[in-house]
This record gives sequence, structure tokens and C-alpha cells, in this order.
Amino acid sequence: MEDSLDPADWDDMRRLAHLMVDDAISRLQGLRDKPVWQPMSDAMKAEFHGPPPTDPAPLEAVYADVKNKLYPHAMGNIHPRFWAWYMGAGCLTGALADFLAAIDGSNLGGGDTGANQVDRQVTDWLRQMMGFPEGASGTLVNGGSMANIVGLTAARNAMAGVDLHAQSVADIGAPLRFYASDQVHSCHMKAMNLLGVGCTALTRIATDDAFRMDLDALRAAIQADRSQGVRPACVIATAGTTNTGSIDPLPEIADLCREQGIWLHVDGCIGAMFSIAASNRHLVAGIERADSLALDLHKGLHAPFDVGCALLRDQKVHRATFAENAEYLQVATRGLAAAEFLHDYGLETTRGFRALKVWMMLRHHGVETFGHILDRNIAQALHLTALIDAAPELELMAPTSTTVVCFRHVPGGLDEAELRAHNTEIMLRIQESGIAVITDTTIRGRHCLRVAICNHRTQDEDIDLLVQEVLWIGAKISPVGALDDARPN
Ligand SMILES: *Cc1c(COP(=O)(O)O)cnc(C)c1O
Repeated sequence: MEDSLDPADWDDMRRLAHLMVDDAISRLQGLRDKPVWQPMSDAMKAEFHGPPPTDPAPLEAVYADVKNKLYPHAMGNIHPRFWAWYMGAGCLTGALADFLAAIDGSNLGGGDTGANQVDRQVTDWLRQMMGFPEGASGTLVNGGSMANIVGLTAARNAMAGVDLHAQSVADIGAPLRFYASDQVHSCHMKAMNLLGVGCTALTRIATDDAFRMDLDALRAAIQADRSQGVRPACVIATAGTTNTGSIDPLPEIADLCREQGIWLHVDGCIGAMFSIAASNRHLVAGIERADSLALDLHKGLHAPFDVGCALLRDQKVHRATFAENAEYLQVATRGLAAAEFLHDYGLETTRGFRALKVWMMLRHHGVETFGHILDRNIAQALHLTALIDAAPELELMAPTSTTVVCFRHVPGGLDEAELRAHNTEIMLRIQESGIAVITDTTIRGRHCLRVAICNHRTQDEDIDLLVQEVLWIGAKISPVGALDDARPN
């Protein structure tokens, strides 16, 4: 048919599609020998300016640009030595599934489809993996930030004391208060804004030496608020903080929330998946007591971006938070619309078939494999910590609780500002060398390098190489006793 988007020559398209898959697989196979990241030249960046294309071009030529111009300049998080921020490394099973999901094309807003069954099964598997009770509900979203927003919206509505489908935030009598540790992720500030309660509705609670929420400080803040006529609504506990990977004391916080009648939301974007890691699941015991839980499946499960999940203990509260009754979206007793509308459980109406990649990955690899990888990443963080402890020039900046390691190179004789500049230079040189990608942070006012190991391809030798490079670059650029250009070994 003329002017449809289908290929004019199916056989030619089939050949090209196979080529793309072959190239993709070769790319993954050869990953370790390639730079983790390399910057794009200004000349090449300039090629990405210009008017929208009016005339068709052969797909082969378009794909050549993808392969030649984009492949070498990817973020690098699929590489075994990428440990920046906190990201998953993706996987081929998930990538194939994303392609198949796009071909299936189903809209997960609702409908009596196979895709709907897969979506329901995935959220139910996640419910079981997290130890949530039967009858709890879940919704797949685009990531951890949105999963947190879904959970916190349910918390706000459940604690508001007024029906926010009929009234407004201004009708809530006593102002609502949310509590989180001073290590809380920035997405919760966005959530406060979005929920209409404003950023002053979030009280930051001090953390202890291991960067866990201080329970006495939490209790005191709740008491003080009650005496001022403020309504404590929700504690946001973090299982795996971004700065240091620390885990708030979940059982104690759950006890306090129950005693005080406060909603417990757990941001589990980093740590919730430790629930399936045989050697480390004890770290997140108590997570199953949350009223709402945010999961990030493109982190701990390495699903290709993007997919996260919000789990809610009470399905009725979950649905009541988001369900609206639109005349053009009515459930039927027969036909395509004879299924519960899934958009009644979140903010998106149309949703892609994200569930398929999680479903295929869990079936193909099995839950235990993911648990082993998480255990291995924690062991690698501890291995890195031991190497840091053993090197006099390196200083550990926070206790290593899980998969995040904070440290710095300390050549001696530098003040805090000079140490920041020195370590920033180390970080940038490592990134630019293509050998590894790490990032930095500032904890309790002190700058440090930060290594977040969420990577199923990382081997212990990769960690050894990183330490070698930090020591080498650190010594080379150190103002005291700079090395000449000859590399050791
Ligand atoms: C990554 C992260 C988020 C945000 O998740 P996205 O998937 O990036 O939206 C929220 N909280 C914590 C603790 C995280 O590590």
C-alpha cells in the first residue's frame, strides 16, 4: 500500500533488521575492549543541527549514522566499568523484549489483552519478591521518581482527611508533614511540589554515623509537629541512599509509624531488590511492612530504561487515589474494554508495554540470578573498600553499607578546597581515559569520589584496575612528588 509506514520492500527490510540485531549483539560481545565513554567532537555535534527532514532517506543510511555516530558516544552504562550515579547496565533479553513489545504495540492503559495479563503478572511477581501481602497492588511506571510520586500521592490522599477528588489541598485542615532523612533523593522535593503541599512539608531528619535516619530525631520531630497542630502524614524511609547506599532502620521506623498512625513509604530504588539477594536480604528486612514502596527495575534488575514500579499495600486506597470516571473510558462486560483499566492506578493514561522486558528477563534468567548479581555487587563494594583501607593515600569517606563506596585520594598537605580540585581532576581524567566512569558527591560538607556498583558485567579485576588508576593518576597530578609520564608495570 502506498503511503503507509510499512516497508516498500519487506525482504530488504528483513535483511536490514537482521543486520541491526547482528551489530547489536557484536557490540555487546566486544564491550569490554571499548572505551567506557568518549566525548563527541564539536564537529560531529554540529551535524545534529538543521531543519527537519522533508524527503525520505534509505533506512540503511539512517542506520549507518546510528551505528557510526551514536554507538561510540553512548553513556557507557552498559560497560563493565561504569559505576556513575546509580544505573543499571541493561541486558540483551530486555532489549529484545522492548523490540517485541513495540511490535505488539498494546497500550497498557487497559484492555482485555495478553499484554494486560503480562503486566498484571509482573506486578504480582514483584509483590511476592518484596514480601507484600496478597491483594496488594502495583503499577509499572517509567522509573523510581514516578514510583515515589505514585506512593506519596496515595499517602497524601489517605492521610488528608478530605476527599481530594471533591476538595482541594487547601481544604486539608492541619497541614500535612512528611519526614525523610537528610540523605533523601531529590525526587521527593519534586513530589512535594507536585502534591501541592510544598517543599516545607518535608522535614529532613538527621542521620547517624552510618547515614541512617536517627530514630530519636524522627520521634522528636513528630511530637513537636503534633504539639504545633501539624499532622504527621508520612515517613519516607530510604532503603539504599544515593550518596552512600545506607539503609534506614526499617523495622524500627515501621514500628513507629504503626504506633503513631503514620503512612510508611519506602524509597527502595537502590535497596529494595536486595530482598532477593540470599546473602544480603537481611539488610532490608522490614521493607515488606511499607504502605507503599518504590522500586527501580532499570537499576537492580538491569531492565533497559525505563521501568520502575510502585507497590501499594492497600489496593483500594491505590485505586481510589487515581481513578477518575471519564465517559469515553468505561469498562465493558464484553469486548476489548472488558478488563479493569490500569490507568486507574497511576498518572499516565497511555503506557507502553514495559512489562514485557521484565517478564521475559525474570523468566529467562530466573529471580536467583538477579539475587546473585546483587550479592556480587555488594561483595565488590566491600572488596573496593578493603583496597581503599589498604592504601595509605586513599581515605574512605563513609562506611560501605551496600553497593556505594565513597572515598578520596589524599596526597597530604592539601586543604579541603584543594582536595576537591585534586579529586575532581582524578574523576575527570578517569572518565576521559575511557577506562572507567565514576562520579563524585559531597557528604557532610566533604567532597569525595563515588563508585556505585550496579552492574552485572563488572568483574573483581575491574575494581582492581580502578584503584590502580586512581592511585596512578592521583600520584601523577599530585603537587607533592609528581610522577613523570612513565606508567608503572
Ligand atoms: C535513582 C533513584 C531515584 C530516582 O529514580 P529514577 O528511576 O532515576 O527516576 C529515587 N530515589 C533513589 C534512592 C534513587 O536511587
